[in-house]
Amino acid sequence: MNKLICLAAAATMLAACNNKNQTTSSTAPDELVQHIDSAVKPGDDFFMFANGKWFASHPIPSSERSNGIFRTISDTINATILQICENAATSNNTKGSNEQKIGDYYFSGMDTATIEKEGLQPLKNEFTDIDNLKDFNDVMRYAAHLHIICGSPMLSMYINSDDKISSKNAIFLWQGGLGLPDRDYYFNNDQRTKSIREEYPNHLKKMFVLMGEDDSKAAASAADIYKVELALAKVSRKIEDLRDPFKNYNKYELKAFESKVNNLPLNTFLSGVNLSNADTVIVGQPEFFEYLNKAAKEFTINQWKNYLRWNLIHGMAPYLNSAIESENFRFYGTILNGTKEQRPRWKRVVEDTNGQLGELIGQVYVEKHLPKGTKDKLMEIGNAIKAVYRERMMQLDWMSDATKQKAVKKLDAIIMKVGYPDKWKDLSAMEIERTAYVTNVIRANQWHTNYMLNKYGKPVDRTEWDMTPQTYNAYYNPSNNEIVVPACNIIVPGYEKSMADDAILYSIIGGSTFGHEFTHGFDDQGSKYDEFGNLNNWWTPEDSARFYAKTDAVVKQYDQYVVVDSLHINGNQTQGENIADIGGIAMGLEAFKKTAQYKENKNIGGLNPSQRFFLGYAYAWMVNMRPEALATRVLTDVHSPAKFRVIGPLVNMPYFYETFGIKEGDKIFLPENQRVHIW
Ligand SMILES: [Zn+2]
Repeated sequence: MNKLICLAAAATMLAACNNKNQTTSSTAPDELVQHIDSAVKPGDDFFMFANGKWFASHPIPSSERSNGIFRTISDTINATILQICENAATSNNTKGSNEQKIGDYYFSGMDTATIEKEGLQPLKNEFTDIDNLKDFNDVMRYAAHLHIICGSPMLSMYINSDDKISSKNAIFLWQGGLGLPDRDYYFNNDQRTKSIREEYPNHLKKMFVLMGEDDSKAAASAADIYKVELALAKVSRKIEDLRDPFKNYNKYELKAFESKVNNLPLNTFLSGVNLSNADTVIVGQPEFFEYLNKAAKEFTINQWKNYLRWNLIHGMAPYLNSAIESENFRFYGTILNGTKEQRPRWKRVVEDTNGQLGELIGQVYVEKHLPKGTKDKLMEIGNAIKAVYRERMMQLDWMSDATKQKAVKKLDAIIMKVGYPDKWKDLSAMEIERTAYVTNVIRANQWHTNYMLNKYGKPVDRTEWDMTPQTYNAYYNPSNNEIVVPACNIIVPGYEKSMADDAILYSIIGGSTFGHEFTHGFDDQGSKYDEFGNLNNWWTPEDSARFYAKTDAVVKQYDQYVVVDSLHINGNQTQGENIADIGGIAMGLEAFKKTAQYKENKNIGGLNPSQRFFLGYAYAWMVNMRPEALATRVLTDVHSPAKFRVIGPLVNMPYFYETFGIKEGDKIFLPENQRVHIW
């Protein structure tokens, strides 16, 4: 949900690391130099100046929505995981061992002959159960079951630490239940969104035909789904309105909330997800549940049954026969993201295996594939950034001493989890076999949901990791006041043979990873949590007002950027990430200035240390994305698109202008009175 605030977009969540085979000879031109398009002036478009030549020589493959550093890294990590999967699938494994689970899961995903032969057969009992539902109470019971095995019809529910008592796990009930990626898709009137909305019922209809309905019945079923989802979308908050953690925290005694929504058999739902011991719930958006309470009677039992059938097939589509899988891809891959063809099957199965069994694969990855010295180097950079952050905080001219003391206390308390966890999650209860792929997916989903549900009633485990070491990403978790940086963040493509120079490491890992994540502790959301991870206002009113004047300036700056067609960045929706980008790179630069490389001022590849630092930062976000995928991101993502993750922060930095001789009159120049310096 909105708890983890991450470095990269969800689409690139699972990208990663290490390539032992790829080498660069010492005579090869420097990687950064090779990316530069010297036909572009840095002051016109620094993003294209830094990355343009790479984009020109690496068109987006037709199976991808983007091309760039994340794809390069994900290809590399996928090759490593493929090797781990294939070794496991061809070995003689003991039943229940990690290798047996990895091997059999991967095998079942690659076994397309069985997948085609079985069709919807593995889901037959599920469809029969839906057919037999008699009333709305049954609907809620089955919806709960789907929450365990696939997807989240009607609402979202999860267990996480209570924002106001961070040591305690709580039940969260959140808006949800939509088939399009966000509520705005049901209402926005730009041409691109309209045509997606118009195509959606055709997709729904085709899926019902694939479930065995004739054309006219399928069209009617599709209309049912659209009606239900449109009604839910109407009462859903916009992404930007989900940002305020106070406004999205409404704690109730369960009994009191149940009486507010007495047509909604919440008890049935909660016992369906094994939470019959619930005593309180935290409701994100009470008005959503007040509407669900009405919707219970607004739609017929048959409409609800269709809605559940759709949720089942939609959740399972990527793991079913090619007719269903292709139709799912046609809509979500091509129509929504512009991707022309499916990625090779092995890649999809490798990523899914890693998604479900990443905790097991990570153990092999750490043991056999991690470059030596990874953890030490990451810690060195992380500590350097933390020290710089502290110095800068103490020098802030806009913050009172009282708030400064508290801010520094919070910074000092941030837990840094780097590399990989000390203990791995125990997946022994997850049963995987050489059976139908979709059956394995359901079992794995069940394990993951039950793992989460089992936390309820227990204290928060502050040692837990929510990412595997082979995940090229990072996060700040406000409730635990911690940053988590998985091991593979050390990898920079083109510098596998020996580690990249500090200019690159301090911009990519220092700025866009550690600096960015530390800043999340002090962005529009993170700043509302104290050193113990509790939602608690520790600011003086004057400091708060000065802080929000600065974050408003960030919103204004990014609101101006046009991404595709007439679609602008939503400055409000993306402000936390933009604040983190702006703070992160400022911290990265200060830390880099303390390194020997910067002080010695030696050129590498004809570039001085400062030039390498800023070009390295542009490399961190070297991503070229299809217009369809860009438009989808603008509506669904809290991160700005790559180009503006580079230009947006840099134009606030005087040293950047100096380094590249950028002056007033240049296209990206931001007048001094509009520049933001928060941290
Ligand atoms: Zn972030």
